[in-house]
Amino acid sequence: MVVILKKNPDQTQLNNLVSWLSGKGIDVHTTVGATQTILGLVGDTTHLDIDLISALDIVEAIRRVQEPYKNANRKFHPQDTVIKVGNTQIGGGSLTLIAGPCSVESEEQICDIAQKVKASGANLLRGGAFKPRTSPYSFQGMREEGLRLLSLAKKLTGLPIVTEIMDISQLPLFDDVDIIQVGARNMQNFELLKALGATQKPILLKRGLSSTYEELLMSAEYIMAGGNDQVILCERGIRTFESYTRNTLDISAVPVLKQLSHLPVVIDPSHSAGKNELVDPLSCAAVAAGADGLIIEVHNDPPHALCDGPQSIRPEAFDKLAAKLSRVKEICSL
Ligand code: PEP
Ligand code: MN
Repeated sequence: MVVILKKNPDQTQLNNLVSWLSGKGIDVHTTVGATQTILGLVGDTTHLDIDLISALDIVEAIRRVQEPYKNANRKFHPQDTVIKVGNTQIGGGSLTLIAGPCSVESEEQICDIAQKVKASGANLLRGGAFKPRTSPYSFQGMREEGLRLLSLAKKLTGLPIVTEIMDISQLPLFDDVDIIQVGARNMQNFELLKALGATQKPILLKRGLSSTYEELLMSAEYIMAGGNDQVILCERGIRTFESYTRNTLDISAVPVLKQLSHLPVVIDPSHSAGKNELVDPLSCAAVAAGADGLIIEVHNDPPHALCDGPQSIRPEAFDKLAAKLSRVKEICSL
């Protein structure tokens, strides 16, 4: 349920209302906007007397929220959520570029790519240290050493780092990580989501291979229910009958998720396509559709990459793409 307050509500009445609701076991999330203050009520609101609340001087209107996701719902928080990481921000109108290899492979590799993508305008560096691979015989990532090398590249370039967590037990290793990625395969690892909800780190939450928008938003809700509001939604392609591409980029996810939720929406064209030549057009489409950012795999030697070489673009291609995307963004913001 959402309680919309009148302009400049009396503070004493507001405090009384909030403590009365808390006494009934309801969590109250207050969002102060430029023109409106909204109270988002989380908990069992079925027994609340709506007429009693509506009759208060400070209350403008009351709306029931049918959707099962509350904190992630735009009705709870009409303004876009903006997540600040270092000097960069995600959401609120800017276009954030996250770039780097699928996996960290060596100090030379990650530092070289980090310097190049930074020079091209990337805002954050990506790189997997713990890799969720379909085959147990494939490269599993450099693990702790990979995290150490990411920190090194961060120190060298100043780029904040984004990397994937696969298990709660890895959390203590993620102190220097700026954004923790939850991969598609872990989108419904609810114990992991709860543990991330107890942190203060921004979380890049990837959509599961066969998950609906509502399931993605419910996973975001798990993190937010724990007190961590900093969730970035990521569409990375879904399973369909089409097998030419690795997955099918669901471009509708951008406008729909932004309509349903206030959380930033980022597109991953690399895992959507599985083919490097599709990264450019899919990225342009994502920006045109209103995405808040892109996460793109960039490798200095794609044919020899230990993971996801075919979908990785070279730093020179990223350089051209980054310049093109800022033009697309400009045109589409008209
Ligand atoms: C990745 O980003 O390298 C990755 C494994 O992504 P996803 O979880 O979307 O497959
Ligand atoms: Mn990958």
